[in-house]
Parts: sequence; structure tokens; C-alpha cells
Amino acid sequence: FPSHNTDTMTTSAESFSQAQNYIPGGVNSPVRAFKGVGGTPIFFERAAGPHVYDVEGKRYVDYVGSWGPMVLGHAHPEVIRAVQETAAKGLSFGAPTQIETAMARKIFELVPSMALVRMVSSGTEATMSAIRLARGYTGQDKIVKFEGCYHGHSDSLLVKAGSGALTLGVPSSPGVPASLAEHTLTLPYNNIAAVRDCFDRLGDHIACVIVEPVAGNMNCVPPIPGFLQALREECDKHDAVLIFDEVMTGFRVALGGAQALYGVTPDLTTLGKVIGGGMPVGAFGGKRAVMEKLAPLGPVYQAGTLSGNPVAMAAGLKTLELISVPGFYDQLADTCRRLCEGLEACAAAAGVPFTTTRVGGMFGLYFTDQAEITSFDEVLACDAERFKAFFHAMLEEGVYLAPSAYEAGFVSAAHDEAALEYTFHAAEKAFRRI
Ligand code: PMP
Repeated sequence: FPSHNTDTMTTSAESFSQAQNYIPGGVNSPVRAFKGVGGTPIFFERAAGPHVYDVEGKRYVDYVGSWGPMVLGHAHPEVIRAVQETAAKGLSFGAPTQIETAMARKIFELVPSMALVRMVSSGTEATMSAIRLARGYTGQDKIVKFEGCYHGHSDSLLVKAGSGALTLGVPSSPGVPASLAEHTLTLPYNNIAAVRDCFDRLGDHIACVIVEPVAGNMNCVPPIPGFLQALREECDKHDAVLIFDEVMTGFRVALGGAQALYGVTPDLTTLGKVIGGGMPVGAFGGKRAVMEKLAPLGPVYQAGTLSGNPVAMAAGLKTLELISVPGFYDQLADTCRRLCEGLEACAAAAGVPFTTTRVGGMFGLYFTDQAEITSFDEVLACDAERFKAFFHAMLEEGVYLAPSAYEAGFVSAAHDEAALEYTFHAAEKAFRRI
């Protein structure tokens, strides 16, 4: 697998060193820097199917999938063709195009709670806009989120819990005003009692609850039975807007997202990743009554020069068409099951305490002897050092896992028997080595 790199940066190490001269930390998104696992980030050059290839020409089976979008595998020929054909007609118009309507209609068909949909260019924009809309719709300022969930980097959402339950939120990054963070209430994920208590005390001031219906930014933590239902009940009781952040779970855990899988319907849904098919796309949408408050229909402002960009829509729409074929998600979930069970078997053979979680095409890996993982605290109690050693051993063997113990992993439709077998072969060695 020869490298196609023609300039002087022939290795990942050299590329990283050069990048650091011009880009903060050498990366355009922090988790790429390998801070969580140590070592030098791998610079990629191309990808195809279940594989990514680095600048040195080394091939890896990829379980990151650009952090979720590549549910069809990399460089799917039909997606690439749709992008090329659309690009040839012009890259952006800043005026309405028919493909935006096709996209919104397709989203509505797959996620029926999204009666009206607004396209944006990232998951961060989607959640930020949904929060503003919920505040504008209800006239309330307080929002509820959950520890360990990530919803992008807008100010209101870069907030962690204060020192005690139900204290005012505090900024989790310098630059976020404390006066804004205090409106964000952060509760423990999967803790129904904490939700009830919060609404009992502050329910009438709460604009919305935003939740990852399967948490994928603290590793992979599925909701316990009743958790999402409790959110729905409390929001109904107090006229708050329930937002499912399905940026990760949308078209990932089921064709209709987590809301279809768990049978709980939110008022607003945010999407990203898969709906762009690898292009920069996000979306938010939901109930007509709420969405009609958005400009130009209503007073809540939100806009974007490149929103609904035709090339991005072409990649996304083609992706949504291809995942809509019957049986797609059964096969994806089966691949994920075989991966997780196979890794558990390799760990058991090596005597390493290890477990996995999975929902549809996303999974979590845990170095622990606990059988079940349902909370952020349980995730934190796992052996992160052992994960780091495993990550590097797998990397060496040609398997690319998320470079952090606190991120979900993803399989794609392109992860075939050969890719799984390759992975197990690597894992047998890696578990033995650690
Ligand atoms: N919400 C969730 C659930 C996410 O996983 C992410 C990104 N990982 C975001 C929002 C933010 O999306 P983006 O990185 O496209 O801004």
C-alpha cells in the first residue's frame, strides 16, 4: 500500500511536527492529538471501505469512521459519484435548491417527529440553535443536560456540574461566562430520581432538557429502562422542550434513530455525522409549533451562509438512500455484536477483565470486571491505563480505535468478515501483550 505523499512530510511524526508550527497543537479538533492515549497522532491520506491508510502507506481497520459519519464505510462509490456530479454544477449558491427539500423530506420520512427541519453545517450548530429555539419558544432560560454527555462546544453546553447536586452550572472552559453557565443544570446520566428532583424544584424555569439518548461521548452508555420516558414525562408536566441530541445516534443505532429504538418521541431532534455522509452537515428539527418560531417564520434568529450546501446535501442524501435498504441495520447491529463478542472472547482467553456495550452500530470497550456500565462514574472507574496500552498495541497491529477511553466506537456496513477476522487476530496479540 504505497504512500501517495509527494512532499517532504513522509511520516506521521514529521507531519505532526510541521503541523504544530501552524495549527494550535497540530490539529483542528483536540481529540485528534492523541492526548488521551499519548504518542503521535496518525496522519491519514486516504480511506476505502473499512480501512484507512496513513501517510506512510500503512493500512488500518478503522473503528472511528470519522467519529460516526462513515456508516457505509469510506469512499462509498455512489456517495463519491453524487458529490462529484453535484460539485460540477457549482459549489454553493446561498439560495434555495431543490435538494434541500429532498433532504428535509427524507429526514421526515425516516424520523417522523421532525416535521420541519433546518439544515446547518455541524452538530455544534444544530444543538446551539435547538437550545436557542427552546429558550425562545418557552421564554425560560434554564436548560438541563447530563454529565458525560457532549453536545458540541457552544457556550451554554460547555458547562459542568457545580459542587453539589442542583448547584449552578460552572463553565468547563475558560471563555464561557459564569453568568451564562449558571443557567445550565447538569445532572447524572441515567439517574431518574435526580431528574424528578430537579423538575420538582425548578421545573417552571426549565426551557429544555438535552440528552444523548445513547451516551456516546463518555464511551458508550445505553439509557436504562425508564430514563428517556422520565425525561418525556417531566418535560410534558412542565411544558419544557425535550431535545434528543441524535448527532451520533441518528441513523447509527437504528434507521429512525434512538427515538425509534426506545419508543420515546422528543420535541426537537438534532442530527449530524451520518446525514452529511462525511461532509460538514448538521440539522435540527421537530414539532411544527416549536419550529415555526424560527426565522423567517418566527422571531428566533438562526442562519448560515453554507447551510444546505448542495454538495453536502448530495453526499448526505445519497447516504440516507443507501442506508434505507431493508435489513441494513440488522446487518450493522450483527457486525457490531460479532465484533464485541469476538473482542470479549479474545480478552477472556488472555485473562484480561474486559466488557463491552453496544447499540446498533456503536459500541464501547471497558477494561473492568464490572458486568454492566450505566453511569459516568462507572465509566471513570474503568482502567484507562490499560485502555491506552491496548489502543497502542492494536494500532501497531493495524487496527484504529478511538484514541480515548471515553469515546464510542463505530462499525460500518463495509466491515466484513475479513475485517473482523483481522481485528480478532490483532486483539489476541494485543490482549496478551497488555
Ligand atoms: N452532539 C453529539 C452527541 C456529538 O457526538 C457531537 C460530536 N461528536 C456533537 C454534538 C457536535 O458535533 P460537531 O462536532 O459536528 O460540532
